[in-house]
Amino acid sequence: MALHISEAELERIVRSVVSELTGNGQSKAGVGGRVVNGQSRTVDEAVDAAAVAFKALSAHSLDDRKRFIEAIRAIGLKNKALLAKMAHEETHLGRYEHKIAKNETACNLTPGVEILEPRAFTGDHGLTVHEWAPFGVVAAITPVTNPSSVILNNAICMMAAGNATVVNAHPSAKVCSMKTIELINQAVVAAGGPDNVMTGVLEPSIETGTALMSHRKVDLVVATGGVAVVRAALRSGKRVVAAGPGNPPVVVDETADIAKAAKCVFEGASFDNNILCVGEKAVVCTEAAMRPFMEEMRKLPTYELSGDELAALLKNIVLTDGPKPRMNGQFVGRNASVLLESIGVRGREDVYLLLCRVPQDHQLLYLEQMMPVLPITTAPNVNAAIDLAIEIEQGFGHSAMMHSRDLAALSRMAKLIDTTLFVKNGSSLAGLGVGGEGYTAFTIGTATGEGMTTARTFVRERRCALVDYFRIV
Ligand code: NAD
Repeated sequence: MALHISEAELERIVRSVVSELTGNGQSKAGVGGRVVNGQSRTVDEAVDAAAVAFKALSAHSLDDRKRFIEAIRAIGLKNKALLAKMAHEETHLGRYEHKIAKNETACNLTPGVEILEPRAFTGDHGLTVHEWAPFGVVAAITPVTNPSSVILNNAICMMAAGNATVVNAHPSAKVCSMKTIELINQAVVAAGGPDNVMTGVLEPSIETGTALMSHRKVDLVVATGGVAVVRAALRSGKRVVAAGPGNPPVVVDETADIAKAAKCVFEGASFDNNILCVGEKAVVCTEAAMRPFMEEMRKLPTYELSGDELAALLKNIVLTDGPKPRMNGQFVGRNASVLLESIGVRGREDVYLLLCRVPQDHQLLYLEQMMPVLPITTAPNVNAAIDLAIEIEQGFGHSAMMHSRDLAALSRMAKLIDTTLFVKNGSSLAGLGVGGEGYTAFTIGTATGEGMTTARTFVRERRCALVDYFRIV
């Protein structure tokens, strides 16, 4: 008797064999060069599999796409703690509970296909519509700081736009990143979609990232990271969405609700040990606000460094052996208690944020630290505080915050600092839609100007003019 096995059944069997062979939930590339769940050995393999998935995805309806996105949200939420644990154990950055919150935010607050509203023009000459078409294969370069949350956020946006995506993860976050990609594909396949809508290279490096960004089958490059990757992406010769670094300053003046300002600054600057790109990195207080602000900050789980302690800590966290001072990777994203231990202050696991009073030209105000250390300086009045905050932001065009009830001052800073995100009287997280209105994005187009990215960022505009008829009025 002949044995009839459908292609879907065959695929299921192959997948379960691969999973058994690889064991321990470890993701591995598929047998015989066939990419399964996006797990690819080479850039070519990853791009080819994504190109096939893009074609298959294009044959699906918008309703199907909505269903696939719901499946990605659901699997991300179901595994938010697992992915947070994996990211924390692999990267040693940030805090486990905050990584869960980031995964949850990415799944719940990333918009789907609903953001792709068409545009229409009607008049004597009929009806013209604009619709949003996918690019095809997107190359996504992802950071070590938010590995699974950026990938979940990018997956939802890029899938909503109808694209397939190839990820080159940060080498120090490759395992949790590839696990996220595996889960995303499993969800889409279980919802009736194609496998490999998101692929990734199992052993990513700067070299695989460079090769991916200039690959002939890649239609759009999306780079989320520091200055070097933004520059590399802009050299790729492709259309680029560059989500670069920042150094978000906060201004606090004496008209603010100071207790609330302190709580918000603490929340943003201590969240995930301040490795979020939007997190409060430096505070400028007016002279009149400084004393009450510090009093409120001391009521929170903070530790104020003495001058000697700060000098000792700087020797550990800032490296000065290169052309410019830079942060010591050994301490990036570590808990405040680890930084304290390095200067001999032990047993302070209760501390979430270190505070230090510094002069206006102190290096900590100008370095994107990515550590739970908050430099605080003063300015004589609110206008001087705003001017200094603009210097500290350094033209990255990323994020800034202000706590004040002075409408003219709030308005002045909003205009002059010219950042992509500006939060008034809230924490930086409000700019991501957490405790503030609006959707979320974990890829914030700064250098290239897209702002909070959505599916709308990853589409081509197409126009269809229907001449003389079709207007219904
Ligand atoms: P990173 O720049 O070290 O790495 C980011 C990614 O780029 C990684 O995948 C890395 O392998 C790759 N990369 C780095 N240099 C490269 C090069 N020369 N060529 C090709 N690929 C290269 O950054 P990180 O430490 O992973 O993340 C933190 C940085 O990212 C911070 O500066 C932060 O502000 C920024 N960031 C920005 C956003 C945003 O939305 N604007 C979001 C998250 C992080």
